[in-house]
Amino acid sequence: MARFIFITGGVVSSLGKGLMAASLAALLQARGYRVRLRKFDPYLNVDPGTMSPYQHGEVYVTDDGAETDLDLGHYERFTGVSARQSDNVTSGRIYQSIIQRERRGDYLGATVQVIPHVTDAIKEFARAEVDDLDFVLCEIGGTVGDIESLPFMEAIRQLRNDLGRDQTCFVHLTLVPYIAAAGELKTKPTQHSVRDLTSLGIQPDVLVCRCEHPLPENERAKIALFCNVPKEAVIPALDASSIYAVPSQYHAAGLDGAVLRSFGLPFEPAPDLRRWGDIMERLENPEGEVTIGVVGKYVGLADAYKSLNEALVHGGIANRVKVNIRWLDAELFAEDESEIASKLEPLHAILVPGGFGERGSEGKIASVRFARERRVPYFGICLGMQMACIEGARNTAGIASASTTEFGPTDEPVVGLITEWMTAEGLEKRAAGGDLGGTMRLGAYPGTLAGNSHVAGIYGSTEISERHRHRYEVNVHYRPALEEAGMVFSGMSPDGALPEIVERPDHPWFIGVQFHPELKSKPFDPHPLFKSFIAAAVKQSRLV
Ligand code: GLN
Repeated sequence: MARFIFITGGVVSSLGKGLMAASLAALLQARGYRVRLRKFDPYLNVDPGTMSPYQHGEVYVTDDGAETDLDLGHYERFTGVSARQSDNVTSGRIYQSIIQRERRGDYLGATVQVIPHVTDAIKEFARAEVDDLDFVLCEIGGTVGDIESLPFMEAIRQLRNDLGRDQTCFVHLTLVPYIAAAGELKTKPTQHSVRDLTSLGIQPDVLVCRCEHPLPENERAKIALFCNVPKEAVIPALDASSIYAVPSQYHAAGLDGAVLRSFGLPFEPAPDLRRWGDIMERLENPEGEVTIGVVGKYVGLADAYKSLNEALVHGGIANRVKVNIRWLDAELFAEDESEIASKLEPLHAILVPGGFGERGSEGKIASVRFARERRVPYFGICLGMQMACIEGARNTAGIASASTTEFGPTDEPVVGLITEWMTAEGLEKRAAGGDLGGTMRLGAYPGTLAGNSHVAGIYGSTEISERHRHRYEVNVHYRPALEEAGMVFSGMSPDGALPEIVERPDHPWFIGVQFHPELKSKPFDPHPLFKSFIAAAVKQSRLV
């Protein structure tokens, strides 16, 4: 039977709870256990799909088409286990299902309440589809003390009772701040946070203490005493040089050992961490560096492009180079060509990522043009592919008013809204004016690549499956005009209706993809497109 590890956070947010959960899962996996990570989000949105990236960072899309919290990206990157719809639940989704049941009369006249109905729904979610697992790690979003997370705390408290002490473990992440004026680390916030947790009926088994300075043994002993945990279960967590150093660092600090001890499981032999060692060896000893310009809209917040950022780093790991990312705000790109050139000339490659809405689009189109004309490697992802097609239509195919219907009515809809497409289950239909939430082509779709294309060479295959998240599609009716002008439609949906990839054979590296390859890249298995893109940037760096 699967064992459950519940992960909570205290004192402040942004301590790296998701990363800790992902690292712990990776450590257990490296010991041969089968793991799955889950995230409970206490907010009321049904999923993060409708939230601005500025509010909540990137929306991570799973193979099965769920729009989820970006922590699920960490989970996948650290464990290689594909996340599923059932791995992320919000209060909004729980309430939605309860209210639907209530309206149907399923509660047979009962008063519907937080306890037991909401807590039962949470418990059901935690325990669904876990038969083939050794450990399920459930991370609770937010910080102890939040009003919103109370039903989740109550549900995990009950789960310990339902499942038993030897099947559950509570891991609590806190902060031990350093007060410079006193030259001391302070344990009081941790004590208070654990007191909050125990007042909810949860006694943590393992405490992970984020600190900027090493935690002296006497402070560790003090935390153990006041917080009622064994001293070896107080795990210091110092800042790491890279997120990929975190699993090994947590192992050295004793995290996986403490968790296994709390379950009464053996913690010898040590896990095999060679793959993490190899990644760090490559990151710490690069043989060169490249600078990639990312021309986007949400460049002010690194979390908005989390997976993209990581996939570029993975491309660097594969090529043994350091990847510097220059985030360029497409909106600030002046009309003035010489200014665009001065910003883009120092770069070894240009990438236009996914995005929504018209703002900044002219800057993106200008960047595509620069990359095409100057023969600088160009990678367009989703909106970045659509911009590449519009740029090609306008500047090479003589379709001056080419645009996308996303930006308003147009006579030349090179990119347009699709209202019908095929899925494995059959024809999928959307109303043009429908809800914004959950109305996109989402999740994994197959693509067929032209045998002699650049991308088929990169993938080493003509059959691919990649994740999508978009409403609009490049309009196949413009394919002849664009191909005539030098752009090749080298990847299509298997029925030939939807363009998946465009490329320019007369250019050193010019590829636009309708999907999001960054979502599937792993540090130990870099995505072929990012590996090849960074290799092209390395070549370019030798020219400039
Ligand atoms: N806004 C575009 C669409 O909906 C692109 C979306 C994206 O880049 N993810 O089709």
